[in-house]
Amino acid sequence: MNHPPEFTDLKNLTQDQLVRFVESLGQPAFRGRQLLAWIYRPGITSFEQMTDLAKKFRAVLSQTAHMSRFERAIIQTSRDGAVKFAFRLTDGQVIESVLIPEEDRNTLCVSSQAGCAMGCSFCLTGQMGFRRNLTTAEIINQVCAVRDWMLQRNMGQLSNLVFMGMGEPLANFDNLMDSISLLTEQRGLDFSSRRITVSTCGLVPQMHQLGTQTKVNLAISLHAVDDRERDQIMPINKKYPLAELIEACRQYPQKKRQRIMFEFTLLRGVNDSRETAEELARLLSGVPCKINLLAVNSGGGDAFQHPGRERMLAFQKILRDQGFTVFIRQSRGDDISAACGQLAGQEWCEDAAESLTVPEPASSDGSL
Ligand code: SF4
Repeated sequence: MNHPPEFTDLKNLTQDQLVRFVESLGQPAFRGRQLLAWIYRPGITSFEQMTDLAKKFRAVLSQTAHMSRFERAIIQTSRDGAVKFAFRLTDGQVIESVLIPEEDRNTLCVSSQAGCAMGCSFCLTGQMGFRRNLTTAEIINQVCAVRDWMLQRNMGQLSNLVFMGMGEPLANFDNLMDSISLLTEQRGLDFSSRRITVSTCGLVPQMHQLGTQTKVNLAISLHAVDDRERDQIMPINKKYPLAELIEACRQYPQKKRQRIMFEFTLLRGVNDSRETAEELARLLSGVPCKINLLAVNSGGGDAFQHPGRERMLAFQKILRDQGFTVFIRQSRGDDISAACGQLAGQEWCEDAAESLTVPEPASSDGSL
């Protein structure tokens, strides 16, 4: 639905900002908190439904503000159950989220930017270049849309969120922080910080800020063990080389049992050798961490090839023998353009898009 540009999108506001917004309309602070709880309740799309707010206040809201949401999406379901959503933003940019249902959890991979400026050579989003940062509302609306889609299919609840979709989340720091605030706020989307992971290619100063301002988990896209190699596949390494990155990981404030997740994509003939595994073990020695080994996705172009299962297992064994916790992450959704950026890189096809309906509100008594 189109709104006059001067209308405030309430999905862009954290609780504190919402309080200030209602105060600017002459309302007491608690109305802001009340409003927040309504905005994030499934099935609420209009101020009319907020039955315990005074009619006059609701009328003022509908003349000054709106609550954005994604109304359409191109949805592709993989044979292995992964579901990819492509959303078109108001300026025509297309972004993606991927739902990964598993036995014990439902994880949503969220985008933080349209395109990405980091230019990692193995990544399709990187090859698209940077378009723009997502607003807080555009980040949050991915979660709301998929939550509602799942509710209508009795698929249970989203349990985990990973900022591993399009973009470098720490390069959109302020909106990331506001999103995390709304995601973890009880009256907002009520996720535990422990179930949120932010992945970075290695923006060292922002990693420190993230660690001091939130309790979310950190993941590092590592992918190489020496600077020469990492410079080539991840240009950010020229600015923050490995020694600096790993030192920032050592300093990252974590609870006792919390671990940094290192993502290491194995590329045949590039970084899948015994020597690389041994060097990786040396590099991460003493860092409280887990390691995820991934095979390059088939959507990543011809430049890099899958290392093969055997080489991945051998790589894993070397690290395990050194005492590391190492997973081999299955590539999900290979049959549905699931590589990050693959769907967004294609032309938006309106005919392929579905309407996203919202579930019925659970109750309308206004109890909070
Ligand atoms: Fe950007 Fe991440 Fe892709 Fe690198 S891997 S280009 S940081 S989206």
